[in-house]
Amino acid sequence: MADTDTPRIVVGVPKEERAGETRVALSPTALPQLTKAGFDIVIESGAGDAAGYPDSTFTDRGARIGSRDDVFAADIVVQVNVMGADAASADLARLREGLIVVGAVAPFARPELVKAVAGTGAVLYALEMVPRTTRAQSMDILSSQAAVAGYKAVLLAANELPKMFPLLTTAAGTIAPAKVFIVGAGVAGLGAIATARRLGALVEAYDVRPAAREEVQSLGARFVELPLETDQEEGSGGYATQLSDEAIKKQQELMAKTVAASDVIITTAQVQGTTAPQIITTEMIKGMGAGSVIIDLAAEQGGNCEPTVAGETVDIDGVKVIGVVNLPGQIPVHASQLFGKNVANFLCLMVVDGAIDLDVDDDVIRQSVVARGGDVVNNRVREALGLVPLPEPEPPAPAPAPDAESESPEEAAK
Ligand code: NAD
Repeated sequence: MADTDTPRIVVGVPKEERAGETRVALSPTALPQLTKAGFDIVIESGAGDAAGYPDSTFTDRGARIGSRDDVFAADIVVQVNVMGADAASADLARLREGLIVVGAVAPFARPELVKAVAGTGAVLYALEMVPRTTRAQSMDILSSQAAVAGYKAVLLAANELPKMFPLLTTAAGTIAPAKVFIVGAGVAGLGAIATARRLGALVEAYDVRPAAREEVQSLGARFVELPLETDQEEGSGGYATQLSDEAIKKQQELMAKTVAASDVIITTAQVQGTTAPQIITTEMIKGMGAGSVIIDLAAEQGGNCEPTVAGETVDIDGVKVIGVVNLPGQIPVHASQLFGKNVANFLCLMVVDGAIDLDVDDDVIRQSVVARGGDVVNNRVREALGLVPLPEPEPPAPAPAPDAESESPEEAAK
C-alpha cells in the first residue's frame, strides 16, 4: 500500500485514436486495485463511451475526467493501440522524455512506431512482449483478447451460415449438426472449439504443435492428424515455429479433405514475429459446399487463407471468406474489462515503495520494454529496423555453491 506522503503516480487513459476501435485501456473494474497501489487515474472525457463505460462509471470509482492534454501530462499513459497504431500520430507531439506509455504496439509488424516513440524520449512497453510464463498470464493481453475473439468468431460464423449448428430431431425430419473445423488450437482456437461445441456442432481441430492434441480432445473435439514428419513445431514460450514451404504444401494436401467436408472453418494460426502462415488455398476452398463460411482471425497478420482480405468478405464459389479485424472490439465491455485488468496487473509490478521503478528486477517488465532513453532497446525490433543490435545484458552471476568456503566482506574487498 502506498505511503500517504509519497506523491501519487498519475495514469492517463486517452480516447482510442485508431479508426473503429471501441475498447478502452482501463475499465472501471480495474480502478480500485490501482488506487490502492498508489495510482491516480485521469480519463479523457468520453474515452469509455464506445466500450459501454460512460465518464460517470470512472468517476464513481475515484477517477478524474480531463482533456487529452491532461491525460498525456500523466506519468504513465495506457492505450489499447499505442499512438492509434500509427507512426505518424499527432499524439507523438504530446509525448516527452520519461513519460511511460503502455499498450499494444505490434512491435514486429510496426517497428517504425517503436522508433517514432523512442525519438520522443518516452519509455514504451509493448504488452505483446509479456513473457509466456504462468506468472505473467494475468498480464497477457494476447491471451485475454484471443479468448474473446475465438468466442465471437463462432457466433459470427453461426450468423452467416445458412444452416443450424446443432443436431435437431423434429417431426419434419432430422437436421445434421454443422461441421466446424478450427485451424490453430491456441487460446483463440480453444475458445472457438468450446463455443462451437456449446452450440452443438461437430468440431474438428488441427494445430502444428503436437501438445495441442490433448487440449483439443479435452474439449470434446476431434484432433485432425496430419503426419508432417517434422519435430520443429514448437519454439520458445509455447509459440509455433514457421513451417518450411515443403511442410506447408504437405499440410495443404493432407488437410484438403477435412476442409471440403466442413461447413465452417475458423483459422487462428500465427507465428510470433512474422506474417501468418498461409494454410488454406483458394483451390481447397473451391472444394467446400456453397454457403460455407470461413472466418480468418489471422487476417490482420496476412491471413491463413489465400483469398483473405483484412476487413472484407470475399466470395469464392459461394463460400464466404471473412477477414475479420479487431473482433474483441465487437465485445468491448468484456474485452476492455480483461485488457484493463492485464494493464493494472502490469502497472502494479512497476511500483516499489509507492514510486515507479523502471529498473525493478522483474522479467515481465524487463522483457516488455521496447523503447527507452531515446532508443529502440529490443534487438528483434532493432533488426526489423536495420539497426545494429545492442549488447545483450550480462546474465546474472551464478549463486555460490552451497559448500563453497564463505569469505568475509573484508577478504572479498581485497
Ligand atoms: P498463437 O496466437 O501464436 O497461434 C495460434 C495457434 O496457431 C498456435 O496454437 C500455433 O501453434 C498454431 N499454428 C501456428 N502455425 C500453424 C500452422 N502452420 N498450422 C497449424 N497451426 C499453426 O498462439 P497462442 O494462442 O498465443 O498460444 C500458443 C500456445 O502458447 C498455447 O499452448 C497456449 O496455451 C500457450 N500460451 C501460454 C501462455 C502462458 O503460459 N502465459 C500464454 C498464452 C499462450
